[in-house]
Amino acid sequence: TDIARREEVEHLLRQREKELVGFAGVVAHDLRSPLARIMGYADFLQEEAYDRLDDMQRDFLSRLRKGADHMRVLIDDLLDYATAENRSMAHVPVDLHRLAEEITRERACDRPCEVVVGDLPTVYGDPTLLRQVLDNLIGNALKYTPPDREPHVLIDSHLVSDGRWRCEVSDNGIGIPERDRASVFDAFTRVGGSENFPGTGLGLAIVHRIIERHHGRVGVDPNPGGGSIFWFTVPAGEHKRKSE
Ligand code: ADP
Repeated sequence: TDIARREEVEHLLRQREKELVGFAGVVAHDLRSPLARIMGYADFLQEEAYDRLDDMQRDFLSRLRKGADHMRVLIDDLLDYATAENRSMAHVPVDLHRLAEEITRERACDRPCEVVVGDLPTVYGDPTLLRQVLDNLIGNALKYTPPDREPHVLIDSHLVSDGRWRCEVSDNGIGIPERDRASVFDAFTRVGGSENFPGTGLGLAIVHRIIERHHGRVGVDPNPGGGSIFWFTVPAGEHKRKSE
């Protein structure tokens, strides 16, 4: 039947995607050691031979280091993407409140900022992958707030009608134009205004895939006060809020 055929095609496409992402992960992994050598020699020049370089050589060295730094971020993101797709999933209680507090502490802003962790549930899933979800969303909320504005980030949740938790990370950042809201979760997609901020366009694709594997959904809405509200849902099942 059409439905059976469709399911078969979807299954094949998913298999193919898994293989492609797995391949990207292997390539990224193998690129780490030559990149480490490039960075090692660049560091050596910077620390031991800087005095002997002329202006042009110093300029080239700085470009070399910037390129290598960018490549390292790309490799790390590709590895995370492969992990999001292929890591075998644990199914244990994960205290999202504790995770969000840990991430907030680790990401202590290098400028004044306000990050409030509200009431978040304990859910069943993979702690490493769910940490990655919160880390990407909180990191973006801080990153996409212009330097002249103090970031205000709120991480909160509520139970929604279809028996799911909806967890939200809201910010007062640059916001996302309506036409781009559906595409920001695609790999390598960066949208209006992001050129002024560093990034690879992989973080939200990682978030999307991890939440899909937890049988949830992701999305982004405008924050009424300006900025964005990124959200994801996870099934309520046996899940509990910290305060219950
Ligand atoms: P990256 O941050 O590396 O570019 P992401 O996949 O995390 O990649 O995000 C994709 C794009 O979505 C970003 O380039 C940016 O345009 C937009 N975006 C993500 N988070 C936010 C946010 N909190 N506020 C505004 N724009 C955002």
